[in-house]
Amino acid sequence: MSLQWEPQWEETKVEYKGIRLIVLVDRVTGLYACPICGIGDRATYTFTVKDLVLHMYAHTRKSEKVIITSTASVSEEKRGEDEEE
Ligand SMILES: [Zn+2]
Repeated sequence: MSLQWEPQWEETKVEYKGIRLIVLVDRVTGLYACPICGIGDRATYTFTVKDLVLHMYAHTRKSEKVIITSTASVSEEKRGEDEEE
């Protein structure tokens, strides 16, 4: 019995709330690897695509090296029209 985890990375496309990513997923555990952290010593793994996306958002706060832009319609540049609850 091996105590060491030997991941079998496979590139896969995932989508979460319109955010499409190509990430590495481990065939053994089903873990997703953060593409920004990589799979080296600083790797970060998540169990769900949602957690992966949230983790990647955290990169924007930490380093400001990552800028997330949207091609979706961002028409609300003004504030003061909050009608939704
Ligand atoms: Zn990361």
